[in-house]
Amino acid sequence: MKIYQLIIHSVTVVTDSSIFEADIAVEEGKIVELTEVGILDAKAKTMINGSGLHLFPGVIDVHLHFNEPGRTAWEGFETGSASLAAGGVTTFFDMPLNSNPPTINRVEYDKKNELAKQKSIVDYRLWGGLVPNNLDDLQDLDEAGVIGFKAFMSASGTDDFVFSEDDTLLNGMKKIAELDGILAVHAESNKMVNELSQKALEEGRTSVRDYSEARPIESELEAVERILRFAEQTGCRIHICHVSSRKVIKRILQAKRAGIDVTVETCPHYLYFSLDEFEKIGELAKCAPPLRPRDEVDELWQALKAGEIDLVSSDHSPSLPELKKGETIFDVWGGISGCQSTLNVLLTEGYHKRNLALTDMVRLLSVQPAKRFKLYPEKGTIQIGADADFVLVDLNEEFTLKTEDLKYRHSISPYVGEKFKGKVKYTISRGVVVYDDKSDVSNR
Ligand SMILES: [Zn+2]
Repeated sequence: MKIYQLIIHSVTVVTDSSIFEADIAVEEGKIVELTEVGILDAKAKTMINGSGLHLFPGVIDVHLHFNEPGRTAWEGFETGSASLAAGGVTTFFDMPLNSNPPTINRVEYDKKNELAKQKSIVDYRLWGGLVPNNLDDLQDLDEAGVIGFKAFMSASGTDDFVFSEDDTLLNGMKKIAELDGILAVHAESNKMVNELSQKALEEGRTSVRDYSEARPIESELEAVERILRFAEQTGCRIHICHVSSRKVIKRILQAKRAGIDVTVETCPHYLYFSLDEFEKIGELAKCAPPLRPRDEVDELWQALKAGEIDLVSSDHSPSLPELKKGETIFDVWGGISGCQSTLNVLLTEGYHKRNLALTDMVRLLSVQPAKRFKLYPEKGTIQIGADADFVLVDLNEEFTLKTEDLKYRHSISPYVGEKFKGKVKYTISRGVVVYDDKSDVSNR
């Protein structure tokens, strides 16, 4: 009898187009059999009884910051990837900042790649940075294997990753188009954000609401308008990061219809928390663009359900705990620790509360990320020949997220204390169990 690496029996498989019962066999990290329940005549070194559980393609998180090398006191590939495994994520793309030095040339790429290879328990790819004066490095980075390039249109949180003025963007985009690459942008207007923040500080308006209003939706719209124009001029494929409002998404949709090759992501925190919660939670919920009023959150769900948003990714951006404190909200680190909770947010707030179809969830978390970044169908789907990257979920198990559940280097997150429905039971990366809820130390 055939002995496989892994067999999962009697599980409910969810893809972006169908839901069905199956037995799955895995060999050398790939799906080799996908059959009706009960007809698989084989054994395996690891056998999992999947009855009562739903199996999704592993989540692909295209946007996060693990800060290694250089700021490993903030996070790191080991703790970061363990958090992802606990949250059902099997592939991540690490941003070129806030590691230090940032990933803006081949030397830094190779250093980071080596560290990630040694330490990550799930698959990964690395972003390269587009910054002033690294035009000549873009080709090297592309050849090294970056998943894409990232630029900031407004000042980033760290001064070692410089934001791009229009000339840097335009020249970079011409080059990236030649390389058939993709540019991801943090789209906020630097001018608008600076002026409004300056004014707020001068007038002593330093509340959480003042911070949110100093980075208005209009500043996202202004930057998006500009980058869409540049995309049209250069033919560069673009991806707009962490959009906080449907107003911005509507503009991007228009551009898509006009033939511009653009995709858009939002993040779980824009779907879960509103400005009201930001006011209650404070520092831990600070990010940029900031959390928005409740009606914007509701609109964002409408957009998600209507298929207007391409994908959801975490923008996990941790820091030292002391950087999450300051005299006012303007002084604290802008970044949310949340990459362990993406799937929980979509299951709880999407599937359970708002009837988001499970197939749509798979499209947003796995299929579209894989397709947009050319990893499909190796990643992002359940079919013979695909990588055996799975997350098995008990859809109805409820839990409250505790500090000790968090695998981050620093157990802080605005999601602590939140009630979720739908629990990750196993996460499997290329046929290897990287998270097992039963043996998880935090459950003891
Ligand atoms: Zn980010």
